[in-house]
Amino acid sequence: MCSNNNLTSSTLRINCRPLPFNFQHKTVLTPPIPILTYHQVSLRLNRGAVRHAPLAVEKYILSPQAFSSQMSWLAGRGYTPISLEALLACRRGEDVLPNKPVMITFDDGYQDLIRYAVPILQKHAFPAIFYLVAGLVGQTNAWMEGPGEIPLMDWDEARQLIDSGFQIGSHSMHHPKLAEIPLEDVRNELADSRHLLELRLGCEIRHLAYPHGAYNEAVQRIAGETGYHSAVSIRIGLSNLTDDVYALQRVPMSRQDSMLDFICKLRTARNFRKSFKLARRNWRGSLKRAMHFE
Ligand SMILES: [Zn+2]
Repeated sequence: MCSNNNLTSSTLRINCRPLPFNFQHKTVLTPPIPILTYHQVSLRLNRGAVRHAPLAVEKYILSPQAFSSQMSWLAGRGYTPISLEALLACRRGEDVLPNKPVMITFDDGYQDLIRYAVPILQKHAFPAIFYLVAGLVGQTNAWMEGPGEIPLMDWDEARQLIDSGFQIGSHSMHHPKLAEIPLEDVRNELADSRHLLELRLGCEIRHLAYPHGAYNEAVQRIAGETGYHSAVSIRIGLSNLTDDVYALQRVPMSRQDSMLDFICKLRTARNFRKSFKLARRNWRGSLKRAMHFE
């Protein structure tokens, strides 16, 4: 397993401090876990360096200022970022979740994260996992159609992350839609990426993020068979201890999010507008039921 030099056992103990209930019992509510999905933190858009970038790229490029504000808000409000290992230990009943658990994940492994996101995470001593496209390390996000290709981190930078206590996961070899390719290719994408990352980084790779969020039952089965202990999806929702470990729900983070959206996403997985709509629909439903209209 990747060594976690900066995250000592005492940190992990703090991350999983006991709560006054036994959440293994089915009737006890567990704290929901927002698993935040980030892609890129960069000044590229500010500098116009990604000109004519497709919306699909632009949408996921947060400014360092926005990311810093979000991390400071988590720190100031008593949120405890946890690792996937801590989450899995809690699911096995070997530990308990902190009061306000949250998880920070990055898909694709963009190079600018090293410069702009990592120092902010280190300032708060927050753990995070970076899912790398093993076959494209040191190249660009060539899987995106159109202009606006962005450099990905190289092997030295990935090793620096591990040395700094962060975790690396697999995001496949070439970023295909796994649910749309032959199963033998799925097996190669998952097994080869894990082996290559382990070989080049010298640590065990235990976790997977499905490229494009594309998966089905067969892909989930192969993820388990090829040695992964978890897989995150892009199904939107707060995770919990009964979530499918090979389809963990996440909360997508976007450039368009205001701080109010960020706060709403931590609690509902939706931005303010969608949270408000959901609350209004629930409130109307409750009112109708109370008035015996339904
Ligand atoms: Zn991706």
